[in-house]
Amino acid sequence: MALIVQKYGGSSVCSTERIKKVAERIVATRAEGHDVVVVVSAMGDTTDELLQLAGDVAPLAPRRELDMLLTAGEPISGALTAMAVHALGAESCSLSGEQAGVITDGAHGRARILQVTPGRIRQALDRGAVVLVAGFQGVCRDSGEITTLGRGGSDTTAIALAAALKADVCEIYTDVDGVYTADPRLVPNARRLPRLTYEAMQEMAAAGARVLAQRSVHYARRHGVTVRVSSSFGTGPGTVICADAEAVGAEQPRVTGVAHDLSGARLTVTGVPGGAAAMAGVFRTLAEARVDLDTAVHHAGRGGGGQGGDLTLVLPGSDGPAALAALRASRRAIGYRDLGYDEEIGKVSLIGSGMRTHSGVIAMCCETLSAAGVNIAAISTAETRISVLCHSGQVPSAVRSLHEAFGLGRPTRGAGNCATSRNEPAEKVPA
Ligand code: ASP
Ligand code: MG
Repeated sequence: MALIVQKYGGSSVCSTERIKKVAERIVATRAEGHDVVVVVSAMGDTTDELLQLAGDVAPLAPRRELDMLLTAGEPISGALTAMAVHALGAESCSLSGEQAGVITDGAHGRARILQVTPGRIRQALDRGAVVLVAGFQGVCRDSGEITTLGRGGSDTTAIALAAALKADVCEIYTDVDGVYTADPRLVPNARRLPRLTYEAMQEMAAAGARVLAQRSVHYARRHGVTVRVSSSFGTGPGTVICADAEAVGAEQPRVTGVAHDLSGARLTVTGVPGGAAAMAGVFRTLAEARVDLDTAVHHAGRGGGGQGGDLTLVLPGSDGPAALAALRASRRAIGYRDLGYDEEIGKVSLIGSGMRTHSGVIAMCCETLSAAGVNIAAISTAETRISVLCHSGQVPSAVRSLHEAFGLGRPTRGAGNCATSRNEPAEKVPA
């Protein structure tokens, strides 16, 4: 008998029909004799709809109130799933994040889990119940305020519970049947990766593969939680993410996959006065507005003349309005000349190992993109990743050409329903 944590994403619980299907899988797992803890996301696009409502009443709603609103989504799917499980004859109990013992810091909208005290979960399991936990939410120990963990946070809830309960595995059920070498909607012969190391998955998630929330992978790695990602609609083996070096084998290909991200925006701050103080002012302003930066490139001003330099920053598009508002308010203090903003920017990343030490990989990457007519706006390299910024319209051909050039595909036969990119509703994927 094992202890299994299962997590079902929004599309897996988007309707009462789907919830009943999920309940069947949960009850089947229970019937095999396992203890089952289930984390659910809000139904379908509930979180987006709630954000839309907030936007209608206030363009920049207080983050605390946003959390009060957004934490209303997950308990609905939790309670409905508990009822559906009960209707199938199994004991069940749904809990809010707070009741489940998910303790966070006080950062509304992006709280970090500090501790999990799963006493109530254990009690319910001891009674023989299946426990349903509302994902994406917790409670701040100091203030008693309800918090959310950031978009996609239910993955983190599931992995944190698996760690705290010392579960045998954390099964992530989603609308894709695993992690692929590239988004199969762009690359039809993309391959499902049967196993991946935490490191590789972390890079994939950071580079835009939306199968797992980035933070959840860090958590899994830190606590050694074995994660399996598979489809809630099928029975395939999915992708197992673990520390095992054998996961990738001795002859791991240097390049594991190509990820892309269309969710970023480019912010250009021009005429930043020379010296580190003004630049520090820009970064301090953005930090105080709690804007996450993905990339920052500085071009020194040419020929002096008090023109200063330009800063090109890439940040999540969702942080754009807050970043612009904060920088406009500090314009006088920082002394920059102008702001530019554009969302037509995409990032394509090659994930693998030994990237920095094999400059041939970088050369081949650039040659491939050049042959495909992709204009590289910026390039950055790290040990396990090469990322290229380009116009969003050129992302598909960049992904395809790199996937091809590095021989990542399998013989073409049409891929299943799967995805490795942010920003496009997975529901639109042709099955
Ligand atoms: N419902 C939240 C979101 O859409 C959390 C999650 O689904 O993981 O971001
Ligand atoms: Mg969701």
